[in-house]
Amino acid sequence: MNRFKYCFASLLFLFGAVVMAQEEGDVKEERDPGHYNQSKFKQLYEEFSSPNTYRSASGAPGPDYYQQQADYVMDIYLDDKNAKINGEETITYHNNSPDDLEFLWVQLDQNVRAKDSKSPLRNGNGVNIAYTAGNFAETYINEPFDGGFNIESVKDDSGKPLSYTINQTMMRINIAEPLKSGEKISFSIKWWYNIPDHTVNRARSGYEYFPKDGNRAYVIAQFFPRMAVYSDVEGWQNHQFWGSGEFALPFGNYDVSITVPADHVLDATGVLQNRDDVFSKDMMKRYKQAKKSYDKPVVIVTQEEAEAAEKGFATDTKTWKFKATNVRDYGFATSRKFIWDMQAVKIGSKDVMAVSLYPKEGNPLWEEQSTKAVAQTLKTYSKHTFDYPYHKAISVHAKNQGMEYPMICWNYGRPNEDGTYSDRTKYGMISVIIHEVGHNFFPMIVNSDERQWGWMDEGLDTFMQYLAEQDFGKNNPEVIAPNEKYPSRRGEPSKIVPYMSGDQSFISPIMSNPENVYQLGPNAYGKPATALNILRETVMGEELFDHAFKTYAQRWMFKHPTPEDFFRTMEDASAVDLDWYWRGWFYTTDYVDIGVKGVKKYYVSNKPTKEMEKYMADRNLTEADLPPLVYLAEEDSEDFAPELKGKSPTETSQNLKEFMMDNMTEAERAQVEEPKYFYEITFDKPGGIPMPLIVEYTYADGTTESVTYPPEIWRKNDAEVKRVMATEKELVGIVVDPKLETADIDTTNNSWPKKEEKSDFDKFKENIKGK
Ligand SMILES: [Zn+2]
Repeated sequence: MNRFKYCFASLLFLFGAVVMAQEEGDVKEERDPGHYNQSKFKQLYEEFSSPNTYRSASGAPGPDYYQQQADYVMDIYLDDKNAKINGEETITYHNNSPDDLEFLWVQLDQNVRAKDSKSPLRNGNGVNIAYTAGNFAETYINEPFDGGFNIESVKDDSGKPLSYTINQTMMRINIAEPLKSGEKISFSIKWWYNIPDHTVNRARSGYEYFPKDGNRAYVIAQFFPRMAVYSDVEGWQNHQFWGSGEFALPFGNYDVSITVPADHVLDATGVLQNRDDVFSKDMMKRYKQAKKSYDKPVVIVTQEEAEAAEKGFATDTKTWKFKATNVRDYGFATSRKFIWDMQAVKIGSKDVMAVSLYPKEGNPLWEEQSTKAVAQTLKTYSKHTFDYPYHKAISVHAKNQGMEYPMICWNYGRPNEDGTYSDRTKYGMISVIIHEVGHNFFPMIVNSDERQWGWMDEGLDTFMQYLAEQDFGKNNPEVIAPNEKYPSRRGEPSKIVPYMSGDQSFISPIMSNPENVYQLGPNAYGKPATALNILRETVMGEELFDHAFKTYAQRWMFKHPTPEDFFRTMEDASAVDLDWYWRGWFYTTDYVDIGVKGVKKYYVSNKPTKEMEKYMADRNLTEADLPPLVYLAEEDSEDFAPELKGKSPTETSQNLKEFMMDNMTEAERAQVEEPKYFYEITFDKPGGIPMPLIVEYTYADGTTESVTYPPEIWRKNDAEVKRVMATEKELVGIVVDPKLETADIDTTNNSWPKKEEKSDFDKFKENIKGK
């Protein structure tokens, strides 16, 4: 900025100060007083329950932070013929809390599929527009499936029965003495249940039956009674499992033996302990190659071998033994139909195995894309959070599934029977793999409470998924051409507009329990992911955002964060006040709509304007009583005179000219370039969410200038703000949010002069003419 502009600006400021008091008085009366409260920028003191000694004001774990631990030793038996699963487990529960616990809560999630489950009774929807045949049969024809837990025994560590009470999906273990702070307790549970067909029941776990060869492929999870979380936030998190709100689970160590038919191929959470017993010599040899293959997967079980195994139906069994350290859950997949491939991925100084399991029905898509997608996920997520700490990540193909567990997940993406597939199937499959493998980070390691806050894992994961998809596109030219972008379904601001501009009676704030919202997809996945993407790209910038996001992930790695811990950390590590952003995007159903309302053109004048004359008359002042003033005369007002047009300010203002003569040397005066045009631009904000005001100005000579005013521009007036542009060139166009970065729901008010929006009828007429 040169010196002249600086001096000029201070004169404008003086002028502004003289008339400001009056203006404010006038404006205040005619506007909705609500626009003047500062609620959008008020800090979230009333919404937040922390800080305390468990959770610090910085967003980090506090000095008294604790978490419980639940260790499991389990013997699992899969009865393939009858599609039943039996288990015997010993839980050792460590009470690290400061409280003595009078009873323990264990989760029986399969009871959501019990015959007497209340889950189907909680919806009040009426008749659907259409049903899948399977869903219709399930709802109106079939006997309800009996898929609840059968608890055979609950015993203490001396083998004596323990009393227990089951309330739907929660089991209270009535221990004889309170479990004291710092102590641990062991008890065992024996159970079995009927495995559901997950393709009919829309279950997160179960089997798919393949009528052509008579086999099943199992993806098994939530299959054992699991300890509930006890924490400083909820006490016991024993909110029932109704079906939508996922899981809250403590970390622990697992020692699991799974017995399945001898011809099954199986993989699971944890480190395989008896590879020599369950692998053939060929598999062993290929496995060793895979551990050194960093660029492409090595097939451990081939399609040919899997097809041969499909015909076997072995009656003898094999036991697969695993140990997992510091995981919050356990899952496994098993079938004689599985093809198996894997490759190594360098993460930091460690090698991680990227693994895929799929029946032949997944090929050729699965052998081409799955393991590659797993590898990209591990790389991108590790870069933005922490080095993936487990030794493997497995993607299992299961029809219509998209579900995540530590080290293992189930994913859809089934080609047609002849092996052809659409782009939609291919990108859907790559995306769901990235998403579900990504859940290893959120919530499997950054262990938030999914039962209460769906967005904390789904939103953060969907945000990261977008980054990993874009990386996948860049690194796989055979899938995405070098000049093209991966077609991400969520993440781009414009993609969330239909949801945020929709019927308010079907929208809930992101800060809602997942059971209580319509449209869980946009609510818990799309909107928070987009909010974070906009925060990164447009509000904070990548450098500040990435550091803060990584700080959050590292602070809460292997711990239980709450939303506040996330919100606080993002500010703590960046020095960006974001309360307004959390408030707008996460606590309300407001939307973004910012526009340009009007433009007034001014020229510099030496003669007081009508408004100024009135100001002086009201106060009995003359020009002689005031310092030398410069006035701006509006083109469409009585103050305007044609001779002002196109002149420089020193030509039309004697006061200014004298000021310049007195305060600047001749050399300095020769150097300045005077602005000739003065514009007062009014921006308005029909939407409730304040956002940065991103403006592109276009001048008569075709050049453009971009200015981003910080969101704080809305802090005093939430409805309307004005900016003055002093330029040497004539202004011919203004566009708000020209690159569509803010999820603005209505862009018809984003331009000056207003863009002619053709009516549908005009478009229709044009179309007819064209043909
Ligand atoms: Zn998810």
